[in-house]
Amino acid sequence: MEVLPKLIVFSAPSGAGKTTLVKHLLTKDDLNLAFSISAASREAREGEVDGKDYYFLGTKEFKNRIKAKDFLEFEEVYQDQFYGTLKEEVERLWGQGKNVIFDIDVVGGLRLKEKFPNRTLTIFVKPPSINELQIRLKKRKTETAEKIAMRVAKASTEMATAPQFDVIIKNDDLSEAKALAYQTVLEFINKKVSDDQAK
Ligand code: 5GP
Repeated sequence: MEVLPKLIVFSAPSGAGKTTLVKHLLTKDDLNLAFSISAASREAREGEVDGKDYYFLGTKEFKNRIKAKDFLEFEEVYQDQFYGTLKEEVERLWGQGKNVIFDIDVVGGLRLKEKFPNRTLTIFVKPPSINELQIRLKKRKTETAEKIAMRVAKASTEMATAPQFDVIIKNDDLSEAKALAYQTVLEFINKKVSDDQAK
């Protein structure tokens, strides 16, 4: 068994605070993490940068890449909105000797665990409540009321998948959640694991 590069997956309903936790962990040099930039079919939002926040492929190109089997996992996360992890992205970061950290939806997260059961740690970030989630999304002001309603509706289904994750972090108190996330990830990346059979 060796200390192989790992996959650290953060999944949660939109607005639960997973992005904040992921950004926090990326500041910790001892974790040797690099962020997996996902591909998305949607347009970039104000302030988002192609190749930094996402690879914004557009729907046509995204579907071509599905056909070409270029994805490790992909999902139609919302109607007509596709997101996915490109194989070449993980290869790129593992090639740099990095542990790869993901901010992806629950289905995609569990799919990566299936593919790399030994090397992957899945973390579910739980918002205090669905009501609180709605308040956070409204405050964020990045989505229309309709899109917020869509995300809140999806959150209930996503919450039900929490027991399938390796670790659940309840995000009531941000500094506690940050400390727990750091400890959990630190332990896992130093763990010796056997290599996964490619699936
Ligand atoms: P947003 O549009 O707010 O940036 O992201 C919408 C949702 O897509 C979030 O729940 C996010 O976790 C998910 N997502 C982002 N990248 C990926 C990915 O590569 N794969 C999957 N399955 N979901 C993703």
